[in-house]
Amino acid sequence: MVTAGSGRKAYWQCPREHAFEAVIVKRVSGSGCPICANRKVLAGFNDLATRHPEIAADWHPTKNAPLAPVDVVAGNLACAPAVSPPTM
Ligand SMILES: [Zn+2]
Repeated sequence: MVTAGSGRKAYWQCPREHAFEAVIVKRVSGSGCPICANRKVLAGFNDLATRHPEIAADWHPTKNAPLAPVDVVAGNLACAPAVSPPTM
Protein backbone atom coordinates (compact mmCIF):
# COMPACT_ATOMS: atom_id res chain seq x y z
CA MET A 1 0.00 0.00 0.00
CA VAL A 2 1.29 3.43 -0.89
CA THR A 3 0.21 6.73 0.56
CA ALA A 4 0.16 10.18 -1.03
CA GLY A 5 3.51 11.84 -0.51
CA SER A 6 5.35 8.60 -0.94
CA GLY A 7 8.89 8.79 -2.26
CA ARG A 8 8.34 5.58 -4.17
CA LYS A 9 8.60 5.44 -7.92
CA ALA A 10 5.70 4.17 -9.96
CA TYR A 11 4.81 3.77 -13.60
CA TRP A 12 2.25 6.03 -15.20
CA GLN A 13 0.53 6.46 -18.50
CA CYS A 14 -0.32 9.89 -19.86
CA PRO A 15 -3.37 10.66 -22.07
CA ARG A 16 -1.14 10.13 -25.13
CA GLU A 17 -0.32 6.65 -23.81
CA HIS A 18 3.33 7.36 -23.05
CA ALA A 19 4.56 5.11 -20.28
CA PHE A 20 6.87 6.84 -17.84
CA GLU A 21 8.30 6.36 -14.39
CA ALA A 22 8.05 9.04 -11.73
CA VAL A 23 8.18 9.44 -7.99
CA ILE A 24 4.66 9.52 -6.59
CA VAL A 25 5.22 12.67 -4.56
CA LYS A 26 6.32 14.53 -7.69
CA ARG A 27 3.16 13.53 -9.53
CA VAL A 28 1.09 14.72 -6.58
CA SER A 29 2.85 18.08 -6.73
CA GLY A 30 1.98 18.50 -10.40
CA SER A 31 4.75 16.84 -12.37
CA GLY A 32 3.49 15.13 -15.49
CA CYS A 33 4.62 13.18 -18.50
CA PRO A 34 8.26 14.07 -19.33
CA ILE A 35 7.73 13.16 -22.98
CA CYS A 36 4.82 15.56 -23.46
CA ALA A 37 6.83 18.17 -21.56
CA ASN A 38 9.77 17.66 -23.95
CA ARG A 39 12.05 16.68 -21.13
CA LYS A 40 12.47 13.21 -22.61
CA VAL A 41 12.71 12.17 -26.23
CA LEU A 42 10.45 9.54 -27.74
CA ALA A 43 11.43 8.50 -31.25
CA GLY A 44 8.50 8.96 -33.58
CA PHE A 45 6.83 11.58 -31.38
CA ASN A 46 8.96 14.53 -30.36
CA ASP A 47 12.39 13.80 -31.79
CA LEU A 48 14.05 16.12 -34.26
CA ALA A 49 13.93 13.62 -37.15
CA THR A 50 10.17 13.22 -36.78
CA ARG A 51 9.20 16.82 -36.11
CA HIS A 52 11.67 18.59 -38.39
CA PRO A 53 13.00 16.15 -41.01
CA GLU A 54 14.19 19.07 -43.15
CA ILE A 55 16.43 20.22 -40.30
CA ALA A 56 17.46 16.69 -39.37
CA ALA A 57 18.66 16.27 -42.95
CA ASP A 58 21.39 18.79 -42.18
CA TRP A 59 22.52 16.90 -39.07
CA HIS A 60 26.28 16.43 -39.11
CA PRO A 61 26.92 12.69 -39.43
CA THR A 62 30.08 12.50 -37.33
CA LYS A 63 30.48 15.64 -35.19
CA ASN A 64 27.33 14.84 -33.21
CA ALA A 65 28.09 11.15 -32.68
CA PRO A 66 26.77 9.17 -30.95
CA LEU A 67 23.71 11.42 -30.98
CA ALA A 68 21.37 11.09 -33.93
CA PRO A 69 18.36 13.26 -34.84
CA VAL A 70 16.07 10.64 -33.27
CA ASP A 71 17.92 11.04 -29.97
CA VAL A 72 17.22 14.72 -29.41
CA VAL A 73 14.02 16.57 -28.57
CA ALA A 74 12.85 18.84 -31.35
CA GLY A 75 11.94 21.66 -29.01
CA ASN A 76 8.66 23.38 -28.45
CA LEU A 77 5.77 21.44 -29.85
CA ALA A 78 2.53 22.95 -30.98
CA CYS A 79 0.50 20.84 -28.63
CA ALA A 80 -1.28 21.46 -25.40
CA PRO A 81 0.09 20.04 -22.20
CA ALA A 82 -1.46 16.63 -21.67
CA VAL A 83 -1.18 16.82 -17.94
CA SER A 84 -2.70 20.18 -17.08
CA PRO A 85 -4.36 20.10 -13.67
CA PRO A 86 -8.16 19.93 -13.58
CA THR A 87 -9.82 23.31 -13.45
CA MET A 88 -12.66 24.00 -11.12
ZN1 LIG B 1 2.92 12.02 -22.65
